[in-house]
Amino acid sequence: MYFSKLFIPTLKESPADAEVTSHKLMVRAGMIRQLASGIYSILPLGLRVLRNVEKIIREEIDQIGGQEVFLPSIQPAELWVESKRWDFYGKELLRIKDRNNREFCYGPTHEEVITDIIRKEVKSYRQLPILLYQIQTKFRDEVRPRFGIMRGREFMMKDAYSFHADEKDTQHTYHQMAQAYTNIFNRCGLKFKQVQADAGAIGGSFSHEFTVLADSGEDEIGFCEICGYASNLELAESKPPFPNITPSIQQDLKEVETPGKKSVKEVAEFLNFPERQIVKTILFENENGLVAGLVRGDHEINPVKMKNLIGCEWLHPAEQEILAKYPELHSGYVGPIDLKLPVYADHEISVLHNFVIGANKPSTHFTGVQVERDFKIEKLGDIRTVRADDPCPRCEKGTYHVKRGIEVGHIFILGTKYSSAMKAVFLDQQGKENSMIMGCYGIGVGRTAAAAIEQNHDERGIVWPRNLAPFQVIIIPVNYSNEELKNVCDSIYNRLKEMGIETLLDDRSDRLGVKLKDADLIGIPLQIIIGPKNLATRQVEIKTRKTNESNLHSYPEIIEDIPNILKGL
Ligand code: ATP
Ligand code: MG
Repeated sequence: MYFSKLFIPTLKESPADAEVTSHKLMVRAGMIRQLASGIYSILPLGLRVLRNVEKIIREEIDQIGGQEVFLPSIQPAELWVESKRWDFYGKELLRIKDRNNREFCYGPTHEEVITDIIRKEVKSYRQLPILLYQIQTKFRDEVRPRFGIMRGREFMMKDAYSFHADEKDTQHTYHQMAQAYTNIFNRCGLKFKQVQADAGAIGGSFSHEFTVLADSGEDEIGFCEICGYASNLELAESKPPFPNITPSIQQDLKEVETPGKKSVKEVAEFLNFPERQIVKTILFENENGLVAGLVRGDHEINPVKMKNLIGCEWLHPAEQEILAKYPELHSGYVGPIDLKLPVYADHEISVLHNFVIGANKPSTHFTGVQVERDFKIEKLGDIRTVRADDPCPRCEKGTYHVKRGIEVGHIFILGTKYSSAMKAVFLDQQGKENSMIMGCYGIGVGRTAAAAIEQNHDERGIVWPRNLAPFQVIIIPVNYSNEELKNVCDSIYNRLKEMGIETLLDDRSDRLGVKLKDADLIGIPLQIIIGPKNLATRQVEIKTRKTNESNLHSYPEIIEDIPNILKGL
């Protein structure tokens, strides 16, 4: 490809709203342009990268027996009503009406559509398992679209769905898929971790995320370097406390005045207690009303773990306007004693004695509090967020490391959530009717490319991992209007093309400095710089973008060696 023919509108300045490097560099490198909030046009250079990600995905998913389909992006509301997600999915679902006032949505995911196809066509265990996938545009009306195509509203996803006759077969495909994902992200040149994850709005029972390690990531993951346990922090298990040892002195419950002292820090300082002896009571709302969660003052409550402990459909921190309807609740002084709400407590609370807690009266706390003696707990469990250096829940020696990351892929075992709701059934070997067991598996195509930039860039621009690079080689003549240079460039270009290497020739009349800057910005792995002085001694300069090192090589001999050099990158 000739640079002058390619539409690459590079920019010197980053867009003002760009917070992360990949967003800035994708815009500056002329890969993407914003059309509306969270909605982007992908320009030629950007599309070449996305196509490379797609190619790797297709090869790996085909390898495990996936068959590609292409499903409609517009989906009838009835299917979502059947799966009970029409109401549950909330504002992220873009709802549309056609001219006959029929309700539709723009698909944020495709469990309903695929289940509808399979329930109509598959009747017997003999037709199972089936693994179908597509690469297609999704729309989710995200609350905070940002970071360019990393968290867009419209974005490209590879989504795969599998249907099985039994649990064992589902597990088998799930593990094959996890391996395919590992291959995909390795081939994309990413440093990532496979972590235990929450199933979120998709539902289901078992799930892992593939998270690319990057400080700019929105997710936090906790992992143990000794046993390899790794989890999204919103789910990472905490080690249960040592069994309850009743202290020799059990203090009496005592009401104390704590005027204006609301936060753990204020109460701890005022009463001269360590923060771990103060117990926080946090209110949440779910489908059944208000519930209270208790954690130690030096810990943070984890809403995802709390939701899972309760087993409710949804859970949000209680909004101020809801709390206003309960005059008996005093913000900063809420506590479990005589509270008319279900109380859930972190397992650390069970081994705590003589602690401090809100007294449900303004400016008042209780001291000397004991669980069971003073209040009842609905359910005790692991509901706090783990921190770096906490003990690993799975091995004796390890401790947690916490790092930020970008979720690029997510796999789920859905069980029969959709097949039961939508009656996707089959006859088993005994002629008995069963619901199919399902798995679903997503990868964000644009997010993967953006994550690759987060991990591979320098102050000059993008440093593409070789398999994602829009071109492998860029030829940069000092002056393309010089006949001799032009001939050499064209002949190198043609030879590389013959060898099947994607090459860009910068035939523009710009100064060398401009061309070198653009080449660094768009991040092509290998630059061949051709000038009259070097050529006079039969030499060309070859620069590796990753190291920014350049060396002179004998021309034309070196050209035959380019495939090897590329392999080594
Ligand atoms: P997140 O937690 O980041 O919002 P999710 O868990 O809702 O993502 P999934 O439903 O698991 O996302 O979707 C599968 C994959 O699609 C994700 O792993 C991610 O790579 C990609 N993805 C999800 N939302 C977006 C988005 N708004 N923009 C770009 N890619 C996305
Ligand atoms: Mg996810």
